[in-house]
Formats: sequence, structure tokens, C-alpha cells
Amino acid sequence: MSDKLAVFGGKPVRENPLPYGKQTIEQDDIDSVIEVLKSDYLTTGPKVGEFEKEFAEYVGVKHAVAVSNGTAALHAAAFAAGIGDGDEVVTTPMTFAASANCILYMGGKPVFADVLPNTYNIDPDDIKKKITQKTKAIIPVDFTGQPVLMDEILEIAEEHGLLVIEDAAHSLGAEYKGKKIGSIAHMSTFSFHPVKHITTGEGGMITTNDDKLYKRLSIFRTHGITRDMNSLKENHGGWYYEQQELGFNYRITDMQCALGLSQLKKVEGFIKRRIKIAQFYDEHFLKMDEIAVQTQADGTRSSWHIYLIRLNSSKLRAGRKEIFDALKAENIGVNVHYIPVYLHPYYKNLGYKKGLCPIAEDLYEDFITLPLYPSMTDNDVKDVVNAVQKVISYYRI
Ligand SMILES: *Cc1c(COP(=O)(O)O)cnc(C)c1O
Repeated sequence: MSDKLAVFGGKPVRENPLPYGKQTIEQDDIDSVIEVLKSDYLTTGPKVGEFEKEFAEYVGVKHAVAVSNGTAALHAAAFAAGIGDGDEVVTTPMTFAASANCILYMGGKPVFADVLPNTYNIDPDDIKKKITQKTKAIIPVDFTGQPVLMDEILEIAEEHGLLVIEDAAHSLGAEYKGKKIGSIAHMSTFSFHPVKHITTGEGGMITTNDDKLYKRLSIFRTHGITRDMNSLKENHGGWYYEQQELGFNYRITDMQCALGLSQLKKVEGFIKRRIKIAQFYDEHFLKMDEIAVQTQADGTRSSWHIYLIRLNSSKLRAGRKEIFDALKAENIGVNVHYIPVYLHPYYKNLGYKKGLCPIAEDLYEDFITLPLYPSMTDNDVKDVVNAVQKVISYYRI
């Protein structure tokens, strides 16, 4: 290994770029999709229900509703929760914009509670401070795959009569006190984008144990239209269907669900590999004073969607930008998760200002996301560690 950083013209740690995330598609996945292409149904056929059933079984929940993507899942959950004009919903700024956008879709107002400095997940004490007469729901996010402090959050929700929608886009297969994520909150939402634990290309799912919420989620997916004889308000004959709510076309195809079914069979293996890589990273990075790693709360098993290091700026003579660029030049696919949601121009235009969640803002300045996906080889993982050691050693004070 050459000591001269690649960013200054040295030899990079790897010859070809390593992405930060990537799907794992094997022959059984391909066969599964082809079978649907040769069948009678490309969409709204048998694979949708099968995928929902298998998913619900895996998570340990009564109902699962498959939709076209994770953002549609959040929108459907916000609709089912009855969020409307002027309602406030408490969420975290340390997330992808979709977690908060779904509140805006329904005419509600996102209220941001700060995160905890060591786990980076939403702070239940700050949730309490942000609750008003107008609060309707809480949308916590299992950031990086680590479950939030759900007992505390559910207790707050119960006390104030709120619903909890868990954005579980990072935490498929994660566990909280022995229960799988997706079986605990009033509703939980998942994404099957290619960087997530399992993929359907685009796709999403909402899980719930509540029959009424399940009905509202199902109707929202397909224009708010129902043909269910028991819930029709009128009946004009055998052809009759009825639009009862303003829904969307958020349906998912059978091709996608077939892919989801074959991916789901392998999810435990994917997660085991992710955990193993994260452990290897932890082992090496815990020894370095210049960086910190995420603390895991008691009683949680993360499913490790992403792995972050946090730079200790007092021990480094370069900022995050230089270190990010140096790692990129070593051909390591680094990333940053996340720009606090309310710092995006769209949110600033709505009146949100810097300083709202100081801990999340500080963390954001120091975060770098490293590559993590199941098909990384042991050598890929070592390359990442070598590159981090190389760059950090150079910039160490
Ligand atoms: C990926 C993701 C979403 C959105 O999912 P899509 O399927 O891309 O629409 C929502 N929230 C979080 C935290 C995510 O990571």
C-alpha cells in the first residue's frame, strides 16, 4: 500500500470503485420474474397477495399491504392515520426527506425532534417537548437499521392519543426486545429500493395489526375505490364499484412481487452478512481515536442498512469534505446520510431554520457513510478499512 493519498496522485487502495450499496440478484430471482412474464397477470395478480402473506409472516404481523415504493407506503400510512390540514406530526431530521414529506402530502406540519448523540435515533424526551394540542402522530425512523426506543415512544403516544408510524426503510429484519420491526408500531413502512435489504426494483410495504388501518391502507393504494360488498354504501348491480376516498394508483406489479418473494427467502442471509461486515468495521474503527462509531442501544438488533463513521474534528487537521474526497479518490464509494431534512431549500422556504435540532446538525457535519452490502467480499471490506486508516493517518494531528 502506497502512503501517498490517491487524491494527491498516489496509487489508490483499490483499482476499481466500490459502490456504497448494491442489490444481490441471483438466478432464482431472475427465474421468479420470468415465470410471471409468461403468466396471465403482470399486475394485481396472485404474486401480490403471496408476497404480502410471506412478508407478514416473516415480520410476525397480522396485515401487510404492498405498494409501489417506500414513499407511497409512508403516504398511505399518513392517510390511514387520518393526518389532515393543520395536524402536527413529530419526526426526526436525521432521515431521508420522504419521512417528513408524507406529512406535507396530507396537509400536516412536520415538527422535528432532535436525535440522541450516540445512537443518532430520535430522542423520546425531545419528542415530549414537541407535543402540542395539534399533534396527531409520531414518525420515528430506525436510522441505519437500529430500532428506535419504541417502548418510550409508544408510551408517549398512548398518553397523548397519538399513532406511531415507524419508518422501517432501514430496519427490515431488525429486532427490538426480541420482536421483529414491523410488528410493534401501529403501522410500519418498508422500502424495496435496490440499496435496501431486499429489492423489487421499486417497491414498498406497510404492516399493521389493526384491521381498520389495514382497510384504509388497501383502499388508498387503488384510488380509494372498493368492490367489497360489505363496505359499499350503495349497490347498483354486479358491475358496481365505488370510490369512497381520494386515493392514488400506488399498486405494485406481480413481476416486482415475484422478485420480492425470492429475495425474502434470502433475507436472513443478507442480514447476517451485513452484521458481520459491520462487526469487522467496528473492531477496527473502535481502535481509532479520530473516528467514532454508532452506539447500539440495549435490547436492539440492528439489521445494518448503512454503516457510518463520525469524524472527531478535534483530532484531525482536515474537514469532512477533504476526508470524503480523499476516500473517494481511493475508490471507496462514500456517501453522507443525511442532510437534516429541514435544511433543504424546500423546507427553509416553509420557514424552518438552522438551529432547530443542534445535535442532528452537528452529527451531520461529521458523518461519512461507508460501503455496506451483502455481496461485498472480505477483500472489499478490508479495502475500506485500509483506505480509512490510510486517509485518517495522513490527516491525524
Ligand atoms: C429509502 C427510504 C425511504 C423511501 O423509500 P423509496 O422506496 O425510495 O420511496 C423512506 N424513508 C427512508 C428512511 C428511506 O431510507
